[in-house]
Amino acid sequence: KSTHFGFQTVTEELKAGRVANVFSSVASSYDTMNDLMSLGIHRLWKDHFVRSLNPGSRNSVEGQKILDIAGGTGDIAFRMLDHASNINHDNQTSVLVSDINPEMLGEGRKRFATSPYKAAGRVAFLEANAEDLSAINDSSIDLYTVAFGIRNFTYKQKALEEAYRVLKPGGVFACLEFTPQLRNPVMNAIYKRWSFGAIPLIGQVVAADRDSYQYLVESIERFPSQEEFAGMIRKAGFLLPGHGGEEEGMQGAWEDLTMGIAAIHKGVKP
Ligand code: SAM
Repeated sequence: KSTHFGFQTVTEELKAGRVANVFSSVASSYDTMNDLMSLGIHRLWKDHFVRSLNPGSRNSVEGQKILDIAGGTGDIAFRMLDHASNINHDNQTSVLVSDINPEMLGEGRKRFATSPYKAAGRVAFLEANAEDLSAINDSSIDLYTVAFGIRNFTYKQKALEEAYRVLKPGGVFACLEFTPQLRNPVMNAIYKRWSFGAIPLIGQVVAADRDSYQYLVESIERFPSQEEFAGMIRKAGFLLPGHGGEEEGMQGAWEDLTMGIAAIHKGVKP
């Protein structure tokens, strides 16, 4: 099978076990590869994502309990804690970093090992599948984040239902993810050339792992559109921001980033 851009797809050859191993093989090169593949733009998106959530509260004595799902190497968790501490002067807010992959979680642990956040007990790690968060109590989380993770989940709707269950009423679900298609067809064609052509090649040269990076590109193609994903979030029970009702479509339910290469979706548990 080939994609509509004519490149060979490896997804079908990457049977379930192989897909599960993708993140084990990319763990140590993951941060470098992120910079190379996105030309560093993922940093700006992550900064924007965290700023838009304004973690840490000036008023709460207890701080917020944040759950960063598919937290991998701790990129989002670090930004959340920095924002809470430096912008909101909140030294209580904590992040539970959760990931299905022990190697990715290991990279996160390493990164936090010498951090004052670790010493202050403001970060913890949990190996878990986002589709089954039974280790986490109902209505116990203030903010659930997932960045560049959900497109890898097998049962995305189940993960959204788990997000809904663990959040407190008033709690926020927030997702940063690539979109399958840019709005502008010309830009889309250029972007697809880049992602299907250059990214597996960079993966081969830098990480000696072409197939894993080809899988990552293909998983972006298979992810639902912004409209469809907003519908899934609503189906899980969340209220969508800026969304007036069925007849008005889904406008305002998400924010497109950089020509719609990525998008931020949010939902509030009523
Ligand atoms: N959030 C990090 C970031 O933004 O840099 C890491 C993103 S990385 C592309 C995707 C992560 O999703 C990997 O660490 C992988 O192990 C994790 N993952 C994949 N399937 C998962 C699942 N079912 N439950 C939890 N984590 C999962």
